[in-house]
Amino acid sequence: MHARFPIISTFAKAARALPAAALAIAVGVAAPGSALAQANLPVVRDAEIEALIRDYARPILKVSGLSKSGIDIILVNDTRFNAFVAGRRMFINTGALLQSDSPNEIIGVIAHEAGHIAGGHQERLREQLARAQTMAVVTGLLGIGAVVAGAAANSSELAQAGGGLAAGGGELARRGLLGYQRTEETTADRSAITYLEATGQSAKGMLKTFQRFQNALALSGARVDPYQVSHPMPRDRIANLEQLATNSPYYDHADSPTLQQRHDMMRAKIAVYTQGQSAAARLFRKDPQGLPAQYGDAMATYMFGNPRSALGKADALIKAQPKNPYFHELRGDILMKANRPAEAVDAYTTAVRLDPVKSGILPISLGQALLAVGDPASLKQAVAEIKKGLQRDRENSSGYRYLAQAYGQLGEIPEAELATAEGHFYRGAYQDAKIFATRAQLRFKRGAPGWVRAQDIINYKIQKKK
Ligand SMILES: [Zn+2]
Repeated sequence: MHARFPIISTFAKAARALPAAALAIAVGVAAPGSALAQANLPVVRDAEIEALIRDYARPILKVSGLSKSGIDIILVNDTRFNAFVAGRRMFINTGALLQSDSPNEIIGVIAHEAGHIAGGHQERLREQLARAQTMAVVTGLLGIGAVVAGAAANSSELAQAGGGLAAGGGELARRGLLGYQRTEETTADRSAITYLEATGQSAKGMLKTFQRFQNALALSGARVDPYQVSHPMPRDRIANLEQLATNSPYYDHADSPTLQQRHDMMRAKIAVYTQGQSAAARLFRKDPQGLPAQYGDAMATYMFGNPRSALGKADALIKAQPKNPYFHELRGDILMKANRPAEAVDAYTTAVRLDPVKSGILPISLGQALLAVGDPASLKQAVAEIKKGLQRDRENSSGYRYLAQAYGQLGEIPEAELATAEGHFYRGAYQDAKIFATRAQLRFKRGAPGWVRAQDIINYKIQKKK
């Protein structure tokens, strides 16, 4: 097998990248912790942030008639401000989340993007993006066409999957991926105002974001965010938007304190994972005793400090909010790092139980901890938990990697090979997927469910761009 960039390439639900030489039966313990920890990866998976952004998006998608589209949320690990929807995927940069002081600012951006979709703007390009692999879209968005070329050189499948997008990556990047016309901006603004009003929310955040960009553009020489490039912000547009926003009866309607706290905890997490140890403390210096600052401190200690001290801080958070699943998840991450997998199993079990939105990520973390415990009963339970996670999050390619490890340690070789095939399949490495599916099929009984699934993978036709 050839070397690969540590870039994620699945369909809707991107997951952590796998190393090139991922073996069918890799023995050993997987690294614990949030995908955010792997700051070099372009896409991050995090149960807490995904749940929050879905809560932001849900009412807007409903009133804009898009809820049935089954929009998935992809978090892009990029410090610049950007957000857009392509097909059934909504891409949001962690930089946009970090830069927004309130939930309302992000909700406003989501409302504006929903306005573009409902208006049918850039439909042809959107269709192209919908067909393209997540990796190709993300790469275009990051403006690193060279990486696309590199990946394509290593994998003809990826190049095919990326289609024209890979070839046009540089051009897309120059245009800020999705460049809108001024008339489209006006339409999207009006739709956004309608959606916000229909959900009883203020357009103040959206206005604030666009005003900020207008000012940033005026101060030329400052860095330009992709969002700013794709959404033209002339003065008259902002003036119109201001009038519409202030006319709403909900203009002064603030986000609920609970939602604001979740938003701040998310920002604390992103700050620590992307900007280092003291970033959350800087962000919340006005309220150093508040829960977001404490959360940031606990995560910084987990990442950069002593596990025992981190554990004490996680326990203090759990004492403050015993039902917060993500505090228990952090506790599990710390215990995994401290090589105490049996206790991590307990912490993740609690996180899974408390998670109201039933993320697939948490059972997969629990499965990893069980895998690390490693006795036959735990391995069997690991298989069950990881499968549960994958049922919720079918395209989580790292989940298949841990599933393959658990099966491998149990000596269930065809299942391990099939799981490896699935992992390759969902990250778009179809050739590798077919190799492992073929190996699995030789060991399965003809017609057995595993045999049939392997056949599906072997028969899968890579969709080429017309
Ligand atoms: Zn726009």
